[in-house]
Amino acid sequence: MVDIALLGTGGMMPMPERFLSSMMMRLNGKLILTDCGEGTQVSLKMLGWGFKAIDVICFTHYHADHISGLPGMLLAIGNSGRTEPVKLMGPTGLKRVVDGLRLIFPELPFKLEYIEIDDCSKKYEFDDIIISTCEGDHRIKCLGYRFDIPRKGKFSVEKAQALGLPVKAWSILQKGGEFEMDGKIYTGDMVLGEPRKGISIAFSTDTRPVNALIDLAKNTDLFICEGMYGDDEKRSKALEYHHMLFSEAAKLARAAGTKELWLTHLSPSMSEPEQYIDNARKIFANTVVGLDRMTKRIDFEE
Ligand SMILES: [Zn+2]
Ligand SMILES: [Zn+2]
Repeated sequence: MVDIALLGTGGMMPMPERFLSSMMMRLNGKLILTDCGEGTQVSLKMLGWGFKAIDVICFTHYHADHISGLPGMLLAIGNSGRTEPVKLMGPTGLKRVVDGLRLIFPELPFKLEYIEIDDCSKKYEFDDIIISTCEGDHRIKCLGYRFDIPRKGKFSVEKAQALGLPVKAWSILQKGGEFEMDGKIYTGDMVLGEPRKGISIAFSTDTRPVNALIDLAKNTDLFICEGMYGDDEKRSKALEYHHMLFSEAAKLARAAGTKELWLTHLSPSMSEPEQYIDNARKIFANTVVGLDRMTKRIDFEE
């Protein structure tokens, strides 16, 4: 099970109702943040998910509307009592950018670990999540992220009994541990069935629609994608600034076969983005215009 929250759904400049780009995932008590625009910590405070459990912060790119909330966010994490390191991930240049920001917060009670991504074919595996990336087409290098939460196979009582394993070993093996009996080591894969369908979420913003995004969002449960402009008439602007129309995001969602599309990074020039929703829905019906602090829980399929 994973919880998703949009903390900021605005692009370019923060508005009273829309803070800047930010998405939080909560999984097994840990938090993974993607982008940290202005207002992120205010939104998180309102949501009440806490700061201490933020383990990883991923950045799509280093335009201010995606990273200027970081100094305050790291101070808030520090004030929450965290002492364990926090991982920061992003395109090459991450440490340089953060070092610049650190002039205004030189001391933190925890370490920062940097993962600079220059090769999008590489996958990053943390405890219970696999993070992969793809390159978008923006004015500077910009990454899309995919988060896969794999699910182990079902525990097979038949297999455990056939191996003669005592009941006390079952839960140990089910949780991925090892069990020793008569000098032999037993592992989870000996008593579990085929891996079951996991949960997957893709997040992409500040890019033209590129084919790599279709692969990124392939068969995901949720695709969160920028929808900078709702009106198809804004196509020349989308091309000029390397952003997307609602209809272009919807075409990606349809091609990727995702279950649901959330539009984010909405231009402050749209006072009511909802008025353009049909431009997306006629292409991909299950489209929702993002709102700050909109949440969704995704469970493993039965
Ligand atoms: Zn942006
Ligand atoms: Zn940008």
